[in-house]
Amino acid sequence: MKVSEITRLSTADLYDAHVLKNYPRQPLTLVRGSGARVWDDAGRSYLDFTSGIAVNALGHCHPQWVAAVQRQAGELIHTSNLFRHPNQAELARQLVGLAGPGRVFFCNSGAEANEALIKLARLHGMKKAGGEEGRCFKIICAKNAFHGRTFGGMSATPQEKIQKGFRPLVPGFAFGELNNLASFAALVDDATAAIFVETIQGESGINVCTPEFLRGLRELCTRHNLLLLLDEVQCGVGRTGKFFAFEHHGVQPDAIGMAKGLGGGMPIGAMWVRENAADLFQPGSHGTTFGGTPLACAAALAVLEVIEKEKLLEKVTAQSAPWLAALQKLAVNFPDKVASVRGLGYLVGVQMAGDLAPTIAALRERGLLVPASGNNVIRLLPPLTATPAELAQSVEIFRAALGGA
Ligand SMILES: *Cc1c(COP(=O)(O)O)cnc(C)c1O
Repeated sequence: MKVSEITRLSTADLYDAHVLKNYPRQPLTLVRGSGARVWDDAGRSYLDFTSGIAVNALGHCHPQWVAAVQRQAGELIHTSNLFRHPNQAELARQLVGLAGPGRVFFCNSGAEANEALIKLARLHGMKKAGGEEGRCFKIICAKNAFHGRTFGGMSATPQEKIQKGFRPLVPGFAFGELNNLASFAALVDDATAAIFVETIQGESGINVCTPEFLRGLRELCTRHNLLLLLDEVQCGVGRTGKFFAFEHHGVQPDAIGMAKGLGGGMPIGAMWVRENAADLFQPGSHGTTFGGTPLACAAALAVLEVIEKEKLLEKVTAQSAPWLAALQKLAVNFPDKVASVRGLGYLVGVQMAGDLAPTIAALRERGLLVPASGNNVIRLLPPLTATPAELAQSVEIFRAALGGA
C-alpha cells in the first residue's frame, strides 16, 4: 500500500469516527489546489467547478491573493471591532463604491450577513411602527429560498429538509412565489417590514429572478415603506459577470448580504445598507468578535483587486455565453437525461431528468467536481478565472459522462 493510500484511508476513517455526520460527503480527500484544479491525496487532479461552493472566486491559491494573505498574516491578523484597521476601512470604501452610498457591516459568513439583514428589517419595522417593538416585523421571502442555517436564515428558508427537527422557528416570515409579483403583493400588510429574496436562487436549482419581478418588488417596497433586502451571498462578487447580480436588473436594493466569493476562500461576510437605513444600527445594537479582521479584509481586497486587474467581470460575461450555449446542447443531445440548462455567467444549473448522484459520480470519475443544487440540478461554479479551455473541458467531460464514454 502506498503512503498516499494510507493517508486517504485514515482521513476517511477519522471522518467516520470523529466528524459530525451532517454532510453527505463525496469520497474524496483533497490536498492541494492551483487555479481551477485540485489534487486528491492519490495525486489525481480534477477540474474544480465546485469552487468551494462559489467561494474560490480567483480559483485556488491565486499568487496575488496568497501574497496578500501571507503579508497580512505576518503583520496583524485580528484586533476585534473595538479598534480600527486600514483594511476594513478600505474594503468598506470599495464596497460602498460598488453598491452605492451607504455603510457596511462585516461578519464571517453568509448566514451571518443574512442574520444582520433580518435584524435590520426588525429595526426598520420598529421605526415604521413609531418606535413600538413587535408590531411590524413581517418579512416576505420566496418559496424555495435558501438564506442559511442560523435560526433567522433557516426561518427564511421554507424547505422541509432544512427546517425539520428545529421548530419552533423565528416567527414573522411569509412566502410568495418567485417571479410572481402578485403573490408577494398579496402578503403585504401593516405588519410587513421587508421583502427578502436571492437575486438568483442558488441552492434550489438556479432560479433567476426576472427583471420585471425584481423591479416590481422594488416598487412594492417603495410604496409600502418596506426594505428590499437582496441575498447576493452566492450570486454576488462577479459570479454573473456583474459585481452584483441585481445590476442586470437595474434595481436598487436597500441592503445586500454578501459572503462566499468575497474573501476568495477566507471566511468573510458583509452587509451593505443604503444610507436611508444605515443609521438603524447604533452602537451596541449588533456585533461580532471576528467580523472583518485585518486578515479577512486583506483577502477580500485582493479579490477585488484581481477582479479589476484581470478584467474578470468582462471575461465572465464574454466567456459564459458560448459555454452556456455548449451546455444547452446537452439538453438537445441527451433529452432523456438533461431536462434543461439555465443560469447566468458562471452560476449555471443543469437540470437532470433522473437521480443526480450517478451523474455527479461519473463526472468525478472523469475529473470534474460539481455540487448539486436542490433535488435535480447539477451546479457548475467555475472560478471567475477559468479559461475558455477549462470551460470547454467541463462540457466535454459532461458529454462523456452522459454518453457513458
Ligand atoms: C451559502 C448561502 C448562504 C449561507 O452562507 P454560509 O456562509 O454557508 O452561512 C446564504 N444564502 C445563500 C444564497 C447562499 O448561497
